[in-house]
Amino acid sequence: MGLNGLSRRWRLLGNWSCVVGPAARRRTVCRPGLCGLASHGEEIGSGVRVRFGPSPTGFLHLGGLRTALYNYLFAKKHRGQFILRIEDTDQSRLVPGAAENIEDVLEWAGIPPDESPRKGGPCGPYQQSERLDLYLKAAETLVERNAAYYCFCTPSRLEILKKEALRMRQTPKYDNRCRHLTSKQIEEKLVQGCPYVIRFCLDKGTVSFEDLVYGTNRMEPASVEGDPVIIKADGFPTYHLANVVDDHHMNISHVLRGTEWLTSTAKHVLMYRAFGWDPPVFAHLPLLLNKDGSKLSKRQSDLFIQNFSQNGYLPEALLDIVTNCGSGFSGNRPGRTLEELVSEFDVTRIITHSALLDLDKLPEFNRIHLLRCIENSSSRQLLVTELQTLVEKVYKDNLPEGKPLSTDYVERVLVHRKGHITSLLDLLKPDYSYLWICPPVPREQMEDLTTEAVKICSMVLSLYQNCSNVHGTPADLNSELKWLQTQLTTTKYSAMMKLLRLALSGQQQGPSVVEIMLSLGPKEVCERLHRVIVR
Ligand code: GLU
Repeated sequence: MGLNGLSRRWRLLGNWSCVVGPAARRRTVCRPGLCGLASHGEEIGSGVRVRFGPSPTGFLHLGGLRTALYNYLFAKKHRGQFILRIEDTDQSRLVPGAAENIEDVLEWAGIPPDESPRKGGPCGPYQQSERLDLYLKAAETLVERNAAYYCFCTPSRLEILKKEALRMRQTPKYDNRCRHLTSKQIEEKLVQGCPYVIRFCLDKGTVSFEDLVYGTNRMEPASVEGDPVIIKADGFPTYHLANVVDDHHMNISHVLRGTEWLTSTAKHVLMYRAFGWDPPVFAHLPLLLNKDGSKLSKRQSDLFIQNFSQNGYLPEALLDIVTNCGSGFSGNRPGRTLEELVSEFDVTRIITHSALLDLDKLPEFNRIHLLRCIENSSSRQLLVTELQTLVEKVYKDNLPEGKPLSTDYVERVLVHRKGHITSLLDLLKPDYSYLWICPPVPREQMEDLTTEAVKICSMVLSLYQNCSNVHGTPADLNSELKWLQTQLTTTKYSAMMKLLRLALSGQQQGPSVVEIMLSLGPKEVCERLHRVIVR
């Protein structure tokens, strides 16, 4: 993938205060100094462990990045761990390379996991397909406790049930028939080698649980679905079982995930009960929608993070825009750094309103973050290297031989253009080609200035030879040029600048002439002016 962009590492601010819910409070004892009351949140504690559990069914998308980011912010805010767990139990939907892409993207975005398939950690493996024994054992435990059972219903029977329900205009649901098989019947079927799944017995009645965002939820899962499958015929667990088992064994304190999982949570709570485990604290994140309220689709390939990266967008801008359109902060403003996001994040400020993503604003977000990166000397060096590589790739056949782009030169260009460009890719556009290749002298456009052209170019040349101000600030150079114009009898300042711009950049518009001169540097300026004089 093309994530060869900046690999900046982030330094996180250390103003750690923890807002945690009941489960984490149960797990941990607050230490003096770490404890207190958050201004808007609940009691402060420690021992926070959160996870991002994407299924590798596609490359990472903006919606996924947002879920990962909120988990990261919560973990770092509370001095906890952020875990990446690859949920690859649906083998039929795996996309080759997707799991690697997800971890690459998190690193590129500056929100690397503390524990992950690549990094390892104390609760690994971090890929569900490598934890199958654990799920089978857990399912067997439930079977022993009569909280789960073997189901031998054939796909054709299930299909008939479904058709019948639809015919009766009812929601299709499994009729739990195999719940009532005797041990003898089960034994016989197993001996005959009948294929089976394991289903979880959904208790009738209302399940209630607290969610940090959605408050108290009361649901009756058994009224809307039959007993769910927890181990499939291929021996793989379903999402629900694997998720509960892993969250428990990985000691996850808080589950921050998309609101589409809110209805599954009641089922999960029942599973925790059946196992005799404490559930984590839940915080479901409201939907992230397009500006017009439509759903973000995995088919919107322009939303893949690698596409943003290839189009010159900085990770900082993406993190900023996906948080700015949503809640979780006392206010929103463009230009927040990751450090600021961490310190300002407050999970109790997340509201249930959907977040509307206005990607038309992304270039402006990128401009702000690019400006900041250029102003910071270490991130500037990375930008310089990236721009050198890009220019060499795009202009490779036209770059003057023996004149490689010097780091100083590229840095100067960036420093002068900061705040004016929304992406490094802007500098590869034809309008800026004069920065990388010497443009032909546009004699036709200079026609009406010919008589003065040689004179002006000669005067500027001698200015460069005799005046140190040309190496000074933009204001110094500007005042020299103003003075020079007073020596010309017939040419106005604007006409002089027009000529210099044409001579130096071959363009009629662009950055100020002074900026062009300072960016190109004395040697290049003199060479380009000289070409006008010698004709
Ligand atoms: N594997 C699920 C997904 O891809 C994760 C859901 C969860 O975080 O519990 O969305």
